[in-house]
Amino acid sequence: MLISRHKVASIHYTLTDDSGKVLDSSSGREPLAYLHGEGNLIPGMEEGLEGRKKGDKFKLHITPEKGYGVKDPAMVQKVPRAAFGDQKIEKGMQFRTQHGQVVTVTETGLTEITVDGNHPLADVALNFDVEVMEVREATAEEVAHGHVHGPGGHHH
Ligand code: ZN
Repeated sequence: MLISRHKVASIHYTLTDDSGKVLDSSSGREPLAYLHGEGNLIPGMEEGLEGRKKGDKFKLHITPEKGYGVKDPAMVQKVPRAAFGDQKIEKGMQFRTQHGQVVTVTETGLTEITVDGNHPLADVALNFDVEVMEVREATAEEVAHGHVHGPGGHHH
């Protein structure tokens, strides 16, 4: 069975950046199960997995455009330090804004704090080592929900 729209695929993967640093891996965990063709994975992953079958092992190089996007400079903002009150602010800290957006502190100045609302992997080229562990038909309920149920997927 080949991976195509509304098949459920289970994959093991290791994600590295172009310097070889491991950013994420399913190693030591259950494989990642997802419903194909519903945008559950980044576009470059879904494209690279299309037509693959159980047992296939391959590498994918994914540009930021097909990954987590390119950085939007408008999402980098300077905020007066006073807005954080007495809180100690350090580079790398993350906050959720009142709009629910997650921002990361990228610079701390005396009077201003710079926060970045871009995805942490925006502008990063992604290298995936992938192994397809299983491919099956999705259930009608999974198709209706647009995501996987059961092991490796959503539980609800
Ligand atoms: Zn569901």
